Amino acid sequence: MLLDGKTAIVTGCASKKGIGWATARLFAQHGARVALLDLREEDARAAAAAIGDQHLGFACDVRDARRCEQVVKDVVETFGAVDILVNNAGVSQAHRLMDSTMDDYELVLDVSLRGTFNMSRAITPHFRGRRSGAIVCMGSLAAQRGGGVLGGPHYAAAKGAVQALARSMARELAPDGIRANAIAPGLIDTDLLIGKITDEGKAAVAAGTPLGRLGTAQDVANVCLFLASDLSAYVTGVVLDVNGGYHIH
Ligand code: NAD
Repeated sequence: MLLDGKTAIVTGCASKKGIGWATARLFAQHGARVALLDLREEDARAAAAAIGDQHLGFACDVRDARRCEQVVKDVVETFGAVDILVNNAGVSQAHRLMDSTMDDYELVLDVSLRGTFNMSRAITPHFRGRRSGAIVCMGSLAAQRGGGVLGGPHYAAAKGAVQALARSMARELAPDGIRANAIAPGLIDTDLLIGKITDEGKAAVAAGTPLGRLGTAQDVANVCLFLASDLSAYVTGVVLDVNGGYHIH
């Protein structure tokens, strides 16, 4: 049990096929109490209930800084303390540069980047007070390869910025005992792919992947567990590739 007695907040958890829910469930299996956040309260609560009684679901649009602060306050009050934040919420669009509207830009940038910024700022005073905390942010292979597989340029830019933010927080917050890292998943078979890639497209990506398959939400959750737990006590400021070798650099 790697997270015995720990507590965690995970954003973007409503979909049971998604990385957020798989991460929350794995944390719970390792002894953590988890607060699951998503846009709609009933979805977040249902996602939490599906993991077990002691977990909580909250409505939290991570683009809304005030709401992030309120939810962090509520979770700290209920759990007593928080040890881990996973900034997982994200929206992808495959639109090319000239097909993207400013609304597209704002949605994609704001959920990933502003959301990571908001939640990290909301938890940092608490982590500082405890001189401890682990932040895990969700980047993407798209940031490393210039998009192309699933996300358009705005998505790749959002994820590149999230990865840079994780590294910067790692440097700034290390003296406070807080670690910050990111994960760069390759193509992971979740609802995010719906309408963005055909079965033939998936097969082509699998064929081009040294490990011969797409990733699963569990593959990413496992790496979240590593970065959230004391197994990675001396790891901060990294962007960990979880892509089956699709991008070896
Ligand atoms: P998903 O669509 O299943 O999960 C994303 C979740 O975020 C959803 O439950 C959604 O409701 C929630 N969400 C959206 N906007 C939100 C907001 N404003 N506030 C709070 N929650 C919000 O997708 P997933 O594949 O599980 O993606 C999880 C993360 O992993 C995302 O950041 C995504 O960009 C990233 N990622 C996914 C892949 C992939 O291939 N699936 C690859 C690289 C990175």
